[in-house]
Parts: sequence; C-alpha cells; structure tokens
Amino acid sequence: MTSFPSGPAYAPALLTIDLDALAWNWRFLADKAAPAKSAAVVKANGYGLGTAPVVTTLASAGCRLFFTAHLSEAIKVREALPDPDIEIGVLNGLMTGEEQAYPEHNLFPVLNDLSQVDRWAAFCAAHGPRAAAVQLDSGMTRVGLPAGEAEALAADPGRIAGFECRYLMSHMACADEPDHPLNARQRDRFAAMVPRIPHSHAMLAASSATFLGPAWHFDYIRPGVALYGGRPNTQAPNPMRQVITLEGKILQIQDVDAPQTVGYGAGHQVEKPGRIATIGVGYADGYLRSLSNKATAVLHGVTVPLVGRVSMDLITFDITAVPDAKVGDAMELIGPSHTIDDLADQAGTIGYEILTSLGARYARRYVGVPQ
Ligand SMILES: *Cc1c(COP(=O)(O)O)cnc(C)c1O
Repeated sequence: MTSFPSGPAYAPALLTIDLDALAWNWRFLADKAAPAKSAAVVKANGYGLGTAPVVTTLASAGCRLFFTAHLSEAIKVREALPDPDIEIGVLNGLMTGEEQAYPEHNLFPVLNDLSQVDRWAAFCAAHGPRAAAVQLDSGMTRVGLPAGEAEALAADPGRIAGFECRYLMSHMACADEPDHPLNARQRDRFAAMVPRIPHSHAMLAASSATFLGPAWHFDYIRPGVALYGGRPNTQAPNPMRQVITLEGKILQIQDVDAPQTVGYGAGHQVEKPGRIATIGVGYADGYLRSLSNKATAVLHGVTVPLVGRVSMDLITFDITAVPDAKVGDAMELIGPSHTIDDLADQAGTIGYEILTSLGARYARRYVGVPQ
C-alpha cells in the first residue's frame, strides 16, 4: 500500500487503483512498440486516477516522457516528478503569454500552428533555445499544423532553426477501428512529412494505433487509455489489465411487489415480488445518468440489473437473484467482472468518459507499490 491520500473509510463507495496493473500495462505497450519507445499521456488527472500516483508509478516503470493537455496539469506532473531528465509536454498548444512558464517549470510546448512556431522561435531568440514539439494535423482537423502550414514549414525549415524540434508528431482519428481507411492515409501523410521537417523523434500512435502495427510506431508511441485498462480496439479482446475496481456499499434493501415503482419518474415498474438494493453512488459521482435502466453490477458473483433512474447520490438494483445479500455488502460497479468498457457500452459512451468522470466522493485506495 502506498501513502497517496485516500478518502474517508466511511465513504459509500471504494475506488481501488491497482498501480501494479498500471505499471504492467505501460511495460506491455513499451514491449509491443519496441524498438520504438513509449511515452505516457496523463492528462485529466491521469485519466481520473490521480496525477501523482499515476506519474510516479509510470516513472518507476521506466517512462521518461509524459504529456498532459494543459499547462496547469503539466506543472502538477513536474511537482510529482522533479527529475530534470523526465520530459513533460503540453499537448494543447502554446498560448500567448505562457511562454515563460515552460522554462520556469522545465516543460516543453507542443506547437500546433505556425503562429505558435514563430512565437516559440522568437521566445528562444530572446531567452535561449529550448526544445519543443511540433504537431501536424494529418486528418483530425482539431489541433496541429494543417496541411498547408506543414508545407510552408517544410519549405522554410529556418523557422524552427532557432530551437530543437524534439518531437514531430500527429494524432490519429480512427485507430480504434483497424479497417478504417483514414488510418493508412494519416500514417502516409505523416510519414511523407517526417523527412521534410527537421526533428529528433517522430511519433504518431496513441493507444489504439499501437496495435495497428509497426508502420504506425515511428520513434515513440504515446498511449493514454490503454495504460488505465481501456480497450484499445473495438474489434478484438482487450489485452490490457484492469486497473480500477469500484465497489458500492448496500445502504438499504426493500422487499417489493407489483404495482410498486422505483425511483424518480416511477422509472421502473415492479412486476413480481423481489428485492431492491440501494447504493450510495449517483451521477454526482460520474455514474452517468444515461445508465438509468441500463447498467448492471456484480453482487456475490451474480450480475444484477440497475432498475429505475440514476439519481444524484443513489442507484437501485434488483437483487432478487441474490437472496443472501445484506446491508453493508459491497457491489462491484466496475472491476474485473464488469470493466470500464462494459459500463461505457451500457451508458452509450466510451471508457475514457467513465474514467475521467470518476467521482471525488469515492474513498480511494492505491494498491501496489511503485518500485
Ligand atoms: C489523449 C491523447 C493521446 C492518448 O490517447 P489514448 O487514445 O488515450 O491512448 C495521445 N495523443 C494526443 C494528442 C492526445 O490528445
């Protein structure tokens, strides 16, 4: 057990985060990508699992390159990882006025358009050269130099001569669908620019594209969700280890019979005698309201259905099939028998949203000691 802070023992739900599984997942992806190296994406509070425990675990597993979305997140990563040899980049780009924060906290920006490139070059001219990444938009239409700007940079590489372009990168739009035609198109567009824009290391693949094959690996992969147990591919079994378990305590059990209804809006109609168990977790904890009448959980090894609507702080399950269940018993809301992707499918969303919505009211227990 580590010393990372956890919530109070009396919290109605317990979120257990297995740091050994997290480290295993990073090594698995790093092995898969070898001889390419593996970075780690730890944005959004380490995909909801806690920045400090996540990054210290990954650093002990061997990771030396981290990415966040925002500058504020990167500063938190740097506080947890003061080792100056560990590199931390900010994916969302260099906003005007933020330049000085990068040397101050030993971070590097990802430059997402030509104005950012020119601004970093000017900053380096004034304050000394510092490495940055340059991101090309190869088909996402989101952040990164659009094709025309990438051409302009390739035609005039002097624009980045004043600093080291340490990472030349791009991001895939459809890599979780291995047969999508955009996968090869984006890789080809990126590969065509690799020899034309000076840089030290090229990187394209996040979790999903790591599994498309070595042609997507370049020098570094940059996985996020798979580290945390998310499935990298919608069409194959998930090779990753589950990292989180979420258990809710039964607060109350009621015997019910027709014509009773359960919850707001009388959202569930009782049809025969049975038992309803209430758990103290709700949409305020990121247990999404779209799970109303859709989710399942596991109680004493039996899969039981959520009935009625998800309320802010409570959910109800039909536990008629588990006659020996009693108040205080733990129900597995997420875990090895019911993964983040299983729950995401029931909610009509993706595992990423389940992870990054995990509530602040859960007691958190970190198990597994970073070596
Ligand atoms: C979030 C993100 C990643 C990680 O993606 P996963 O699908 O979670 O592996 C990698 N690169 C960029 C640019 C991202 O925004």
